[in-house]
Amino acid sequence: MAQDSGEDRLQPGDPGHPRARAGQGRGDDAIAFGEKLLTLLDAGSFTATYKYGVILALLDHCLEYADRSGAPPSSLTTRQLAQKTIELYWPQTLPFGLAEEGALLRQSSSGQAQIVSRIVHFRDAAAPDPLATLHRTRLASPKAFVRLVDFVEWKLIEMPLPRLQQLGRFYEPFIYQIGWDANITRSRAGGPDFDNRLLLLPGAGEHLVRLAGLIRPLVQREWAAMVARMNRGLVEDSQLEDFLFGARRAGAGRLAFPLRELQDNRCFYCGEVLKVTAAVDHFLPWARYADDGIENLVAAHAGCNGSKRDFLAAEEHVGRWAGRFAPESAESRQLAEIAELARWQRDPERTLSVARAVYLNLSPGVKLWAGIDLFEDADPRGLARALAG
Ligand SMILES: [Zn+2]
Repeated sequence: MAQDSGEDRLQPGDPGHPRARAGQGRGDDAIAFGEKLLTLLDAGSFTATYKYGVILALLDHCLEYADRSGAPPSSLTTRQLAQKTIELYWPQTLPFGLAEEGALLRQSSSGQAQIVSRIVHFRDAAAPDPLATLHRTRLASPKAFVRLVDFVEWKLIEMPLPRLQQLGRFYEPFIYQIGWDANITRSRAGGPDFDNRLLLLPGAGEHLVRLAGLIRPLVQREWAAMVARMNRGLVEDSQLEDFLFGARRAGAGRLAFPLRELQDNRCFYCGEVLKVTAAVDHFLPWARYADDGIENLVAAHAGCNGSKRDFLAAEEHVGRWAGRFAPESAESRQLAEIAELARWQRDPERTLSVARAVYLNLSPGVKLWAGIDLFEDADPRGLARALAG
């Protein structure tokens, strides 16, 4: 995933770093990129919610495959995009509302979106229990999962990918380039000569990563609004967004005890003893990137957790947290054990890449949460050291 190259020795704050050299004009470029993305979100030619899924999947991919300096990758495959799309839709294909009377939300204006139907079908056939995570279901039925990915990959190739950047009569790629158009057939896509890569256009990955904190909530809101329109009478807007994108906190609660043990029964943030119940907090805020991996979970006082909310934690905390990724450390071994016992998901490499993408692309002076009612300015160099690993 993260590959070594000569540029790794340069930190994002250094004047010689490629992103510093790109330098001036980047702000204008980012604004132009953001405006195009807004236009694309507004364009109403889609009958299903796929375009939102693709944008969020691209965003997540750029965070997950960032290199050591936090720079995003330059391409991805439709296979990778399909897996990410399934992750995004997974919680949304549970019944909305009270478990027994709950209904499957429609995600297309004509019938059900095919990707949604196939995910539901896979869950019904393969999940050990109705609320099983994707991770557990995939482990339970690896072959059925491969078939699901095959199907979703083809749907993405056929439908949203060649059409996403088509605005009316104008086709103006600004996010990615692909080697096929809307006339693609399944046999050609499955053939040996098919190039399944999306090549990110210059600057697109950087803009996605730097603007992630703005783009994600916007896309989620539009996605929720479209689902609300397609399911009139069934849903109340206020609960819908949380259902579609919210953290499934109930599940993480059972990790409070082993995480407390790991932290010597101290709050991850203030270091004081945890006397009563502890909250399980997502170190990288869920609103920034939905990561339920064990490395991203810390036990904390309810008060510390409530004060941190969706803020990014300050450098001191980042440095301590980064210790979890040191190979062969007692901490990383214990986390692996906790995940194994609880059958909990973990992908430490991915979690660390996302942290680097998020933190190493912050502008100096962004406020980071240090403690209750306490903020400090982001220092890119200090953060780069904390996440050097
Ligand atoms: Zn605390």
